[in-house]
Amino acid sequence: MEIIDGKALAKNVRENLKQEVENLKKEGIIPKFAVILVGSDKASQIYVKNKNKASEELGIEYEEVLLGEETKMSELLEKIDELNNRNDIHGILLQSPIPKHLDINKAFKRILPSKDIDGFNPENVGKLCLNQDTFVSCTPYGIMKMFEAYNIPLEGKHAVIIGRSNIVGKPMALSLLNKNATVTICHSKTKNLKEITSNADILVSAIGKKHFVTADMVKQGAVVIDVGINRTEDGIFGDVDFENVKEKASYITPVPGGVGPMTVAMLMNNVVKSAKMKKLEM
Ligand code: NDP
Repeated sequence: MEIIDGKALAKNVRENLKQEVENLKKEGIIPKFAVILVGSDKASQIYVKNKNKASEELGIEYEEVLLGEETKMSELLEKIDELNNRNDIHGILLQSPIPKHLDINKAFKRILPSKDIDGFNPENVGKLCLNQDTFVSCTPYGIMKMFEAYNIPLEGKHAVIIGRSNIVGKPMALSLLNKNATVTICHSKTKNLKEITSNADILVSAIGKKHFVTADMVKQGAVVIDVGINRTEDGIFGDVDFENVKEKASYITPVPGGVGPMTVAMLMNNVVKSAKMKKLEM
């Protein structure tokens, strides 16, 4: 059994990106992204802080756009348009959740596909579906990089994903399908979940329930990827009962230190990718 070290992998990605940022700067391009935060969600503030810290380390610039709880949809769209039109901004990130009276899908759709570093614009999701080069949602993208770094074969493997969210489950399924895995997506209405997961060569859990995936749900030798982040008074836990499942897995990601650090690194990767695309236009 090998523990996939997301922290070390992310450090590697960041080191390479740092060099790319320096090269871009020599050519007069400073990679820069904007983060839009609407309202005062506490967890979002922490995520934004982490993203900003990561970008500072790499020499990537960022701009925080703080909008109040009462922001109207028209004001949010206006802000997005303004950022879309700015030449110095290569990426736009709208931190979710946003207040309930706002339509997040409409907002994601408004972000220019070429600046959609989160990969949430329907055009980019469509491109992923068509197996074309695009911005891919950072969590599944980071997981694909993990498979690559550890030489984990995907072709012909049965990959089971628990969770069908637009930001993790669905893009994860498409990414694996694009690499010729046979993919099963499970969700809260799935019957015989254990029977399905027990057949998985690759099992990705993105549910948000502490220790939901137990050893009896896992096939001997399976690759187990734990996306879940469950904050409790005793600390942060994944969806997977790590201590018991690791006895059966061939590879497993820990929480923390697994998928999380790679997600942030992939966001930085997408900012640099967008800045490089800009360079090609020049
Ligand atoms: P969502 O709440 O949007 O989706 C959860 C999914 O889990 C849904 O599809 C839901 O099914 C499914 N589900 C819930 N309960 C069960 C069950 N009992 N059996 C089978 N399926 C179930 O969450 P996200 O996708 O946004 O996030 C999932 C987890 O990953 C969270 O803990 C989140 O914090 C974490 N996360 C971690 C990231 C990282 O960087 N490490 C990044 C993003 C998220 P249904 O659709 O039927 O409701």
